Amino acid sequence: MAIPDIIIAVDGFSSTGKSTFAKLIAAEFAFLYLDSGAMYRGVTLAGLEAGAIADGKIDEAALLEVMPPLDLHFRHEDGTTKLYLGDRCIEGEIRGWEVSQYVSPVSAIPPVRAWVDDRLHQFSKGGRVIMDGRDIGTTVFPDAQLKIFMTADENVRAQRRYDELAAKGENTTLEEVLQNLRDRDYRDSHRETSPLRQAEDAYVLDNTHMTLHEEVVWMLGLLQGKFGLKESPGLSC
Ligand code: C5P
Repeated sequence: MAIPDIIIAVDGFSSTGKSTFAKLIAAEFAFLYLDSGAMYRGVTLAGLEAGAIADGKIDEAALLEVMPPLDLHFRHEDGTTKLYLGDRCIEGEIRGWEVSQYVSPVSAIPPVRAWVDDRLHQFSKGGRVIMDGRDIGTTVFPDAQLKIFMTADENVRAQRRYDELAAKGENTTLEEVLQNLRDRDYRDSHRETSPLRQAEDAYVLDNTHMTLHEEVVWMLGLLQGKFGLKESPGLSC
């Protein structure tokens, strides 16, 4: 399919399936997938490990000292993109409950955002890129050629996230997960720097009642319409 080198920005609320969707689109249409939330999670994990985040408090000065030398980067393995800290794959650890508790306040710190944005720009040089997050279409790549804003009913989102955590053996309740999701959405939408909001030119994807296959078909229609593509490639999912 003749898709030009473009940037696709995928933003939206917590646990709307942005990463799963973006990874599938990347695989179907040969895009590089970059997960901006993973970068904020990586900074949070490093802060926890260095003791800059402890006992419910973030020592901002200590965190900003930990951050600049951090070798956080993505590697492309097994058909997907994984976050590394130096030579250590931290993809599993950054999805844990403790990191999820602190990542929103960490990501609200302006120098943390500037540091992450800078790296996202470096990682995206050249080629087709699909990146998911909260401010990709509004702040990181305001000129992205295609912007998607994802949403879904919050109970459906909480159940999906709870199932994921339970499968990993994390000891939480559905109520705690729902509360964490509401807290993150509130903080992400109300912070001063780059709050989560829908870009005016974004296409809304509400996947409350959609399967992943239906989401990919929706995207295919969008790509065909947007870039005048007539052919309809077979989808593998
Ligand atoms: O996407 P994910 O849930 O992994 O992101 C974790 C957190 O990182 C979000 O709740 C949000 O606080 C922050 N984030 C952000 N801006 C982005 C991506 C993520 O503030 N572009």
